[in-house]
Amino acid sequence: MSEGFTAPRATRHAPQPLKTSWQSQLADSLTTPEQLAELFGIDPEPLRAVAARYPLRITPHTLALIEEPGDPIWRQCVPDLSELAVDDLPEDSLNESSFSPVPAVVHRYPDRALLLVSGQCAGYCRFCTRKNRVGTSALAFSQQQVAEGIAYIAATPGIRDVILTGGDPLLLDDDRLEDILTRLHAIPHLEIIRIGSRVPVTLPARITPELCTLLARFQPLYLNTHFNHPREIVSVSIEACTRLADAGIPLGNQTVLLGGVNDDPAVMIDLCRKLLKMRVRPYYLHHLDQARGTAHFRVPVERGLEIIAAMRGQISGLGIPQYVVDPPGGQGKVPLLPENLLEVGEVLKVRTTSGVIELPNRRRQLI
Ligand SMILES: *Cc1c(COP(=O)(O)O)cnc(C)c1O
Ligand code: SF4
Repeated sequence: MSEGFTAPRATRHAPQPLKTSWQSQLADSLTTPEQLAELFGIDPEPLRAVAARYPLRITPHTLALIEEPGDPIWRQCVPDLSELAVDDLPEDSLNESSFSPVPAVVHRYPDRALLLVSGQCAGYCRFCTRKNRVGTSALAFSQQQVAEGIAYIAATPGIRDVILTGGDPLLLDDDRLEDILTRLHAIPHLEIIRIGSRVPVTLPARITPELCTLLARFQPLYLNTHFNHPREIVSVSIEACTRLADAGIPLGNQTVLLGGVNDDPAVMIDLCRKLLKMRVRPYYLHHLDQARGTAHFRVPVERGLEIIAAMRGQISGLGIPQYVVDPPGGQGKVPLLPENLLEVGEVLKVRTTSGVIELPNRRRQLI
């Protein structure tokens, strides 16, 4: 585990200039415990089993952001033995498979659907809800399966809003993206297209002028990205977001509440102020889903509510994300507000639009 390491400071890579091609930066990513051992002087042995179980990839950009083992950047991307702890958590915590009419679609709300277009990400987040499938053949849908997904959306007039996700849609090359977007844009009942992508954080070089020109042809198109810590907001990421915003693409951010990374009001306020400054609107603060291998990131719901309460008065309402939990079973996201907290104890009672729900309130526990 990271706290135990007494590693010398890593050799810092120089930040990559945007002009280096994103494909070559991706190819230069770190993918083995041995590379981590060489850079940080740690023992690779305990990490081999973790890397054999869950995919490992850290881009040169992310690597350069690590200041020391165990810091908020490290915790998000470096494998940890805790991932193999027996936690009884489900692999498909949101029960996505039962909302999947065809393999590449998750259709849980009547008016919105997810289209899973890429099984890969630039970097693999250790807290990922889909960590049991991401980066493996289980999420690698063929072009034929994506085409079936598009056909399902075209045949379902209630869907107004499609969200491209995966994996990371922006790991597709421009031609493939153009093909998918062209076919979606031609569906008359689709009112908006959304893309969920972490590349502005992990591989900002992917946000080329050509990509922005391409995306701008498919308006109204929204992009939600995924910054979790203010130290991720560095010049190349600011340039990437600025380029997207200048192309007329509204930007939002979905943060995950992560123990040891951002479970602190001062960190969250700093993050959200920096997001607003680069025209990225904080959208959701997600309570961590219950996915196997992520229990070491868990924080109590009560902490998330404290953070939201602390933000009020210290940052514009524009900068306060909606705190949501996605309870297991797949009923959908439930917004959590401090004033809807009815009872605090080992169980939290929270008032929601669909009645009072009870959420366990302990660290490293379910929800
Ligand atoms: C979160 C989510 C959406 C999008 O929800 P919004 O609240 O509109 O951003 C759509 N489908 C599924 C399955 C989701 O989990
Ligand atoms: S970028 Fe998103 S989908 Fe990919 S590993 Fe991270 S959280 Fe999971």
